[in-house]
Amino acid sequence: MLSTEITYLKGVGPGKASVLNKELEIFTYGDLLHYYPYRYLDKGSFTTIAQINNTATYILLRGFLSQVKEIPMKRGKRLVALFSDNTGIIELVWFKNVKWIKDVLKPGTEYVLFGKPTYFNSKYNIAHPELESIEKWEKGESGSLRPMYNTSEKMKNIGLDSKNMHHIMLNLLSQLNSQIVYENLPHEVLAKYKLTSRLQSLKYIHNPQNTKEISEAHRRLKFEELFFLQLEIIKLKLKHTKQKGWKTEPPYDIADRFIKKFLPFALTNAQNRVLDEITQDLESGLQMNRLLQGDVGSGKTIVALISILKIIEGGMQACMMAPTEILAQQHFISLSELLFPLGINIELLTGSTTAAKKKKLVAQLQEGLIHVIVGTHALTEDYVQFKKLGLVIIDEQHRFGVNQRAKLWEKNEIPPHILIMSATPIPRTLAMTFYGDLEVSVIDELPPGRKPISTAHRYESSRLAVFGFIRKEIEVGRQIYIVYPLIEESEKSDLNNLMEGYESICRAFPEYKISILHGKMKPDAKAYEMKNFVEGKTHIMVSTTVIEVGVNVPNASVMLIENANRFGLSQLHQLRGRVGRGAEQSYCILMTNHNLTEEAKIRLDTMVNTNDGFEIAEVDLKLRGPGDLSGTKQSGEISSLKIADLAKDGVILEEARKTAISLMEEDPFLQKEENKNLSRFLKEEKSENSYYSKIS
Ligand code: ADP
Ligand code: MG
Repeated sequence: MLSTEITYLKGVGPGKASVLNKELEIFTYGDLLHYYPYRYLDKGSFTTIAQINNTATYILLRGFLSQVKEIPMKRGKRLVALFSDNTGIIELVWFKNVKWIKDVLKPGTEYVLFGKPTYFNSKYNIAHPELESIEKWEKGESGSLRPMYNTSEKMKNIGLDSKNMHHIMLNLLSQLNSQIVYENLPHEVLAKYKLTSRLQSLKYIHNPQNTKEISEAHRRLKFEELFFLQLEIIKLKLKHTKQKGWKTEPPYDIADRFIKKFLPFALTNAQNRVLDEITQDLESGLQMNRLLQGDVGSGKTIVALISILKIIEGGMQACMMAPTEILAQQHFISLSELLFPLGINIELLTGSTTAAKKKKLVAQLQEGLIHVIVGTHALTEDYVQFKKLGLVIIDEQHRFGVNQRAKLWEKNEIPPHILIMSATPIPRTLAMTFYGDLEVSVIDELPPGRKPISTAHRYESSRLAVFGFIRKEIEVGRQIYIVYPLIEESEKSDLNNLMEGYESICRAFPEYKISILHGKMKPDAKAYEMKNFVEGKTHIMVSTTVIEVGVNVPNASVMLIENANRFGLSQLHQLRGRVGRGAEQSYCILMTNHNLTEEAKIRLDTMVNTNDGFEIAEVDLKLRGPGDLSGTKQSGEISSLKIADLAKDGVILEEARKTAISLMEEDPFLQKEENKNLSRFLKEEKSENSYYSKIS
């Protein structure tokens, strides 16, 4: 019944069905049932026109309509009308369907109006309000709360407004019973977490009598959604933990020798602890799938390197993947220096490696002559084959899709150990979702002697002072980053902006050498500029965010970010992490003009107030919501969530995850009687659209 095509539902028909298909991807009764209201209108909560102020969102007014007239515009016409209650008058405007709307509006009639006021030409008006005559409103079909559904312009054009959506929803609800919408969670779970039944929740969410019913419905439906997502993640995790893997054994002479003789510093406690966790995995005989989290500058690279040495000692090869050419090159250079004295062969393979060279590299990899290969995602290409690939390290993982991660598995009969290094601290709720299938190690300690970076927000008006400060830093031997926003590497105006910036920096600092770096440059040109800066041959690096991740120049002490209001928080944090890598006091200067949105102010204040990546990530999540967090946009995990919100529903997520874990422990094949419906539900509804099943 739930798979019935929507066109057969009373009140829908082929015309509306086709719009629902196209606009909302609603094809079946079931799809419609899961199209939830985004809010509820309290039928008692009227506002008056005099109360409208600039914080108003959607409001409900009660009043009379007058002076409905068409006004010609350059193209087409608009319809305006006045709406008044006994506190004032407000203008209503329609830009579409002018003729049709004009015909149905009845001046002089009392209406209930729902809409969003906007401030324009120093007065408020409401565009495209929903109007309903007072009689109709009072004998409305729902209780005192009316659900509001998001509807597009195309939907409204054929009468599918929020009210109509509710109407057809009620038709659907009247046909449901507990056989059709059967309970898919075990009774024990419902009892333990006090969850309302599935059928009841769907009725509540689409047609609540009071706010308590709404919150019960939300809780249950969020739990269900997060539970099924976690169930898949936990299944994948269990599969990982049973996967046979390459095994190493102590003693680790090469690693020990490296630590004693060549490591220029002592490892931090956190680095040692994480290395122990990794070593246990390598010795377990099972495949490692581990996420290594550590804030920028916490020293993840050394941990990776020592893990590589253990793998090499075990007669295997390792590869390290970075998200950009620049980063891959940097890793290659710094790892080569450390590995050279140990007689270990390391090579670089990226998209810009010549075909001939690639061929040679692959042949050597297959013979086992190369021990370590560093590169970009070019390494995931099928032609790259190894003799015995034991370990894959993925740096700054959030740029690699989960699918790319999976591709590396196929390089051997026994899959390599996987270590994912992420410098983007992510809130716990997101970690449980994106990396919920992985074991997690955290480096929660910075190397000793680091001075916290001091961060300031400055306006254009202090530019001269800022430049003076930069000059002083260069005079005592430091280097400077100046970063310009480049949201899309293809945005021409941004590139102009960068080039103008570069020229003005050259004019302001004629006595210094200046490098420039952006995404449109050829790989060798980039490498050349980067090398000059790394070697201290240039004093200032003017760049876009291509230097955002991983780049390590300990002598750089100032990060000046231009138009800092245009960057997201995690980007700002990454950029700031490029300085403060040496012993010197470092500075981050966030430059903006005075024209700032409230959100931008919060971002800038957060940066000024804290250096803690996790704190920043939490603020970021609250500001932007999970779907927008960098690098996670494309993720199926997030886009599949219809009701749960990872920024707000941490508690429910913990409960759902716990439930999924104990369920999988007690009844991995869902054979017990009490899990019968759950198992049926998975077979019937979850099979085709399972995200995780595609990648493992
Ligand atoms: P990230 O975690 O951001 O990748 P890196 O591995 O690039 O950090 O390390 C940042 C800097 O800190 C490097 O210059 C590295 O040599 C140095 N470093 C790493 N571990 C230690 C340590 N235990 N003591 C002192 N310096 C360290
Ligand atoms: Mg790094």
